[in-house]
Amino acid sequence: MIQQLESTAMWDVLVIGGGATGLGIAVDAATRGYKTLLLEQADFAKGTSSRSTKLIHGGVRYLALGQIKLVLEALKERALLLQNAAHLVKKQVFVVPVYTWKDAFVYFCGLKLYDLLAGTRGLGASTFLSKKETALALPTIKKEGLKGGIRYLDCQFDDSRLAVNLAQTAAENDACILNYAQVTALQQNSEGKIYGVVAQDLETGKTYAPKAKAVINATGVFVDTILRMEQPEAKPLVRPSQGVHLVLDHTFLPGTDALMIPNTSDGRVLFAVPWQGKLLVGTTDTLRNNPELEPRALDKEVAFILETAGSYLVKKPTHKDVLAVFAGLRPLAAHKGNPKESKDISRNYKVILSESSLTTVTGGKWTIYREMAEATLDTLIRARHLTPKPCVTSHFSIHGHTTAAGIDKHMAGYGSDAHAIQQMAAQHPELNTLLHPNYCYTLAEVVWAIRHEMARTVEDVLARRLRLLFLDAAAAAQAAPAVAAILAAEMQRPQIWADEQVQQFRILAAGYRLKPEKVTQQI
Ligand SMILES: Cc1cc2nc3c(=O)[nH]c(=O)nc-3n(C[C@H](O)[C@H](O)[C@H](O)COP(=O)(O)OP(=O)(O)OC[C@H]3O[C@@H](n4cnc5c(N)ncnc54)[C@H](O)[C@@H]3O)c2cc1C
Repeated sequence: MIQQLESTAMWDVLVIGGGATGLGIAVDAATRGYKTLLLEQADFAKGTSSRSTKLIHGGVRYLALGQIKLVLEALKERALLLQNAAHLVKKQVFVVPVYTWKDAFVYFCGLKLYDLLAGTRGLGASTFLSKKETALALPTIKKEGLKGGIRYLDCQFDDSRLAVNLAQTAAENDACILNYAQVTALQQNSEGKIYGVVAQDLETGKTYAPKAKAVINATGVFVDTILRMEQPEAKPLVRPSQGVHLVLDHTFLPGTDALMIPNTSDGRVLFAVPWQGKLLVGTTDTLRNNPELEPRALDKEVAFILETAGSYLVKKPTHKDVLAVFAGLRPLAAHKGNPKESKDISRNYKVILSESSLTTVTGGKWTIYREMAEATLDTLIRARHLTPKPCVTSHFSIHGHTTAAGIDKHMAGYGSDAHAIQQMAAQHPELNTLLHPNYCYTLAEVVWAIRHEMARTVEDVLARRLRLLFLDAAAAAQAAPAVAAILAAEMQRPQIWADEQVQQFRILAAGYRLKPEKVTQQI
């Protein structure tokens, strides 16, 4: 990739940011046939794109807010993702428990409207469940006063693995995709037009100055930092809104169906979704002032999630039950004025072409990343920055896509790569060793992540190629030395590098557990 960067004099499209938005744009641009470069300052999906609720959904909540257009777009994209990334996107049953007949009526009608909007793209009809059926679907739900439940279908996915697969898809279509390459400045000509960027390879310290016909700012909550490289006084386009998730043992809600609470005590939606053998519970909506790559959950957010989940479940989760906690920042497009509640800020996205020819994409959600990319490239074509070429992504398989049966459950997320990983482990039986006794991850997956998925650090492997950091932060910290040893061998790094990697990762992992001081001592 670095060689490609060094030998290319002019790119058609240069994307800053390797989250859902930037990677989607890189795939769209590369598959249209544009010479494409993507620069990510950390790892792919290090930002918000690994910290979502992991739902590919129309958004029942947006329906309640009357955002019908957004719901329709998302339902279309849900169908396309099921078709193009079948290895990562799965149908998920949700049940809304109801405790009054009024709620039963309102939610049933709302979800029937959701079915109607999905039309032929629907995943199955929403149905009313009796009290007994609801208790069967959600075995640990509070039964007192329960009238029944509404069952509906949406989709679940693995966010950071989809990001990695998008990076691979773009690269397979000749794009140059680099992680740990930070954009530090924009290159402007005497007329103020932006014609490239200055970027630093954070591993070597080397600086590059690639030029492009179109430069796209897809940096999520960091879009204003890039905009200020051009106009130091630029008004903020984005207001970060923090969302926190807690990961609990699946025994808090056994079974395969997810719990959806549409209206919590403060008017939010709360999900408790089975995910990779655990239970993912969230989220919150707290306006923050500054963008951060590693935002931390506030005590009040953790308390809110524990309390709300506890008010619906027979066994109340407490602090000590939390296996991992993670926070992400929604890059919400800020409205005029200064709304106090982030629930009220639009999830819609904007594509903004500045006079200096910098294109900025803000807002949106993971589910509609493909449509956002198409709209961005179409905007650039209309503005005559690029020669017209049609978008092909609506029927384009993402790396790993397969509908083949017979891949075991743990390996299913690798899709068409699963066989090659298993073959490598069969040739080198020592790679069948488990990374941690409580989890199915093997050393073979670590080697694969380094050789084929551009993982460069212990964190890249344990947080975003394998999801152990997000599932069980203590187990991830214990697995760090084994990962560091493989990385050092594969990348020919000295022991001191491996030791530093372990230390840095353990500090990070402590931040994914509650009460970090105690955790540091235990490690
Ligand atoms: C709590 C939460 C739950 C969510 N749940 C869902 C969900 O279930 N379903 C759904 O559809 N959507 C969901 N979303 C929304 C979705 O996650 C986001 O819309 C999406 O991930 C945003 O992607 P992005 O690429 O715009 O931003 P990011 O993922 O943050 O990517 C921006 C990237 O730009 C990089 N960058 C910044 N500055 C530079 C620079 N100078 N040089 C190079 N790179 C740079 C950053 O390192 C970062 O990786 C959720 C969001 C949150 C916060």
